[in-house]
Amino acid sequence: MKVLVTGGAGFIGSHITEELLLQNHQVAVVDNLSSGKRNQVASGATFYEEDIKNEVLHEIFSDFQPDYVIHQAAQVSVAKSLQDPLKDSEENTLATINVLEACVKHNVKKLIFASSAALYGSPKYLPVDEQHSVNPISFYGLSKKHAETYIKMFAQYHGLTYTILRYANVYGMRQDTKGEAGVVATFMKRFLNNQPLSIFGDGAQTRDFIFVKDVAKANVAALTKGENEVINISTEKQTSILNIVNELKAITNSDIFPAFYPESQGDIKDSILANTKAKNMLNWKPDYSFVEGLKETIYFYQKEMIV
Ligand code: NAD
Repeated sequence: MKVLVTGGAGFIGSHITEELLLQNHQVAVVDNLSSGKRNQVASGATFYEEDIKNEVLHEIFSDFQPDYVIHQAAQVSVAKSLQDPLKDSEENTLATINVLEACVKHNVKKLIFASSAALYGSPKYLPVDEQHSVNPISFYGLSKKHAETYIKMFAQYHGLTYTILRYANVYGMRQDTKGEAGVVATFMKRFLNNQPLSIFGDGAQTRDFIFVKDVAKANVAALTKGENEVINISTEKQTSILNIVNELKAITNSDIFPAFYPESQGDIKDSILANTKAKNMLNWKPDYSFVEGLKETIYFYQKEMIV
């Protein structure tokens, strides 16, 4: 099958591209390299260095004629969304509308969309399932909510078929270790460079950390399953910030002690996403335990020496 991956030069999109190629799909990537890197585009994929907001996207669809589109490209920083909500909305909502129009015009069989746990806001119960109310507390979460709503209306008015995947906290190889990186990437970089660690709050706060290769497999499973559904992609397991530090200490055999600071305002204490729906509808489950994913990631960074 011919699959177009938007954002395929980025962290998650590059792993999805690799998984698709492994499963013998024909793949094209469109990415403007705003945060992605050219050398992260898997060899074997056709690469278009373009912005998905532009008219040229329609030419790319005419040229490649995808059967399926996996839409990962986005502005992914919560902090940037709070500083510049207009830009965030352009990258995450308006750009998605352009992708949707291209999908309809070019008879794409299905769109898979990267959404986020950020939609749920502060959990009212745990684990958060797909029935949980949607109350985003950042412009990033809001722009993903808007994108989801556009997707559902395109399905209603134009018969577009979709699967929306709401990811928990994704970690793994090629996650940006600069700027507002995920906590795993940030801590890993500090461990490998022997730098001090900062923890805001007591470190007991928990998140649901899902390994990037498991997320890639969920996207590929969604090509043929989970039609017109919204599905969490998660481990349904709690990992605390202190757990991450302890596991990294054990793997790297180093003795870094974190400094504790007052908790960040609005920080959510615990977050776990239910994954029963993904198991039932996508016939998917996470293969990696947190420690296995962490080990694979740390060996990658040590080998590549890119921290
Ligand atoms: P990333 O920044 O590594 O990847 C995004 C890619 O999109 C980059 O390669 C970037 O260059 C490209 N891009 C951005 N705007 C573009 C545009 N206008 N035109 C073309 N390309 C553009 O981020 P990621 O962590 O790989 O995130 C991928 C998707 O997963 C995003 O939609 C994000 O919101 C979602 N998501 C990520 C996480 C996580 O923990 N990383 C969690 C939930 C959801």
